Amino acid sequence: METRPDVVVVGAGIAGLTAAALLAQEGLAVQLLEAHQQSGGCAGTFRRGPYTFDVGATQVAGLEPGGSHQRLLAHFGLPLPQATPLDPVCVVDLADGLPPVRIWRDPAHWASEREQQFPGSSRFWQLCASLHEANWSFASRDPVLPPRSLWDLGKLLPALRPANLASGLLTAASVADLLTLTGCGGDPRLRRFLDLQLRLYSQEPAERTAALYGATVLAMGQAPLGLWHLQGSMQVLSQQLEQALAAAGGQLRRRHRVSALQRSAEGWRLQIERQEFSLNATDVVLAIPVQSLPDLLGKQLPAGYRNRLKGLNDPSGALVFYGAVKRELLPTNCPGHIQLDWADPGSLFVSVSHEGDGRAPAGQATVIASVFTPAKPWFELEAPSYDQAKADAMAALQRGLESLLGITSKQWLHAELATPRGFERWTGRPFGFVGGLGQNPSSFGPFGLASRTPLPGLWLCGDSIHPGEGTAAVGLSALMACRQLLAERGQTLSITSPNT
Ligand SMILES: Cc1cc2nc3c(=O)[nH]c(=O)nc-3n(C[C@H](O)[C@H](O)[C@H](O)COP(=O)(O)OP(=O)(O)OC[C@H]3O[C@@H](n4cnc5c(N)ncnc54)[C@H](O)[C@@H]3O)c2cc1C
Repeated sequence: METRPDVVVVGAGIAGLTAAALLAQEGLAVQLLEAHQQSGGCAGTFRRGPYTFDVGATQVAGLEPGGSHQRLLAHFGLPLPQATPLDPVCVVDLADGLPPVRIWRDPAHWASEREQQFPGSSRFWQLCASLHEANWSFASRDPVLPPRSLWDLGKLLPALRPANLASGLLTAASVADLLTLTGCGGDPRLRRFLDLQLRLYSQEPAERTAALYGATVLAMGQAPLGLWHLQGSMQVLSQQLEQALAAAGGQLRRRHRVSALQRSAEGWRLQIERQEFSLNATDVVLAIPVQSLPDLLGKQLPAGYRNRLKGLNDPSGALVFYGAVKRELLPTNCPGHIQLDWADPGSLFVSVSHEGDGRAPAGQATVIASVFTPAKPWFELEAPSYDQAKADAMAALQRGLESLLGITSKQWLHAELATPRGFERWTGRPFGFVGGLGQNPSSFGPFGLASRTPLPGLWLCGDSIHPGEGTAAVGLSALMACRQLLAERGQTLSITSPNT
């Protein structure tokens, strides 16, 4: 059987769903192919008995007025999902015997907490705030980054303002350089705090996180921006985007894993794994990690581009623990998000469900804890060693959680662990790589991979592309790729922003 849509989007994570819905709404015939039986990818959910677990992402940015999810959902004519802003945004326990750092939503409250926790650091935070302000207004003008054509440049240059040219002087700097510049490089506690927080968003510690990127992620939790906890589960975001796609006449085909892409005179031919089914389309949007490209495209990738992909550092993998406990066992007023500096298997990012948020029965709570791990070694282990390594990691991770939450190993109502192997199966990401490429000074924004590829009619979006990982960011990467694709067809796509 053969059909011919205008565009095929590959991968129904948040990036692919957004791209497919945007293009369908502009009148294109769109098919969205998803390998899994459900959409959402790293922002999906799964059920275990009475529990609903968020697979990867547990908190959402971009729901504030002008935020990326807000703008996109408004463009689709959909309401914002029901959600509560996180306050504290996160509680960071540096395991040093001192009170944990509470990152508050209110900027003044957070400034006073910072001064108490990291005395004398205000110059560092002020510099971050100025950089963030310049970044944020630049981002809200929807620049195309990195530019690969005159059209792209025409969308980048008008977004720049004098403040961006000034902060551009710090393009090659890291967050650690900002500490040194402001005379705050000598506070090891502040440095440790930054290392933990930055790794969550950039996969890199302070010395390897680009200053311009770090300045913004460090400000994401405070009003008027913020991070939110979704009512129901993370899946509601994908469900809304599926709704937008269907309303615009686009088609989502689940259980359709694309196994090869072939360039032809008419465009692209997509082969679907284990099916007598292929599709031809003029344009293809790949909303999957860029590490998948060599397998899908083989020799069609120009040598320079293939080498560029080969030269990328491997992103991290993740170990993710999914557990449940009686709520009465948790500390009083247990925060929804906690970071714990823990040696083995590494620092934990913990998300605890709220009572009545749809994830656990009344009086119980789900507890999800993730920790970064090098991904590839997990694929080198044979069965008995793999099982042992997984059991050891799970026990060590549970020890961290039990010490943090004051519970015992017998009190878990549910406990299971996903390794990078499980993530590869669930999300189709090579080696279960999580997040994007890592936001260090040589690979972020202007130095990253572009959504416009050297192959005509082939576009990229998702967390390998600017502005990086997180559901709010991948929505923006999808918008950027769709604007480029539509411009090639003589169409203009713009969505409302506070600055337009
Ligand atoms: C443990 C963890 C915690 C995280 N926490 C947060 C958080 O709290 N907040 C936040 O905003 N972000 C978080 N993130 C990051 C965020 O989830 C991702 O950056 C984002 O969801 C990626 O979206 P995507 O659409 O680019 O890719 P993905 O979500 O990976 O989606 C890609 C989709 O493509 C499909 N696919 C892959 N290959 C093929 C193929 N060949 N053919 C067809 N389909 C294919 C996959 O099945 C998948 O559905 C977290 C990620 C992880 C792993």
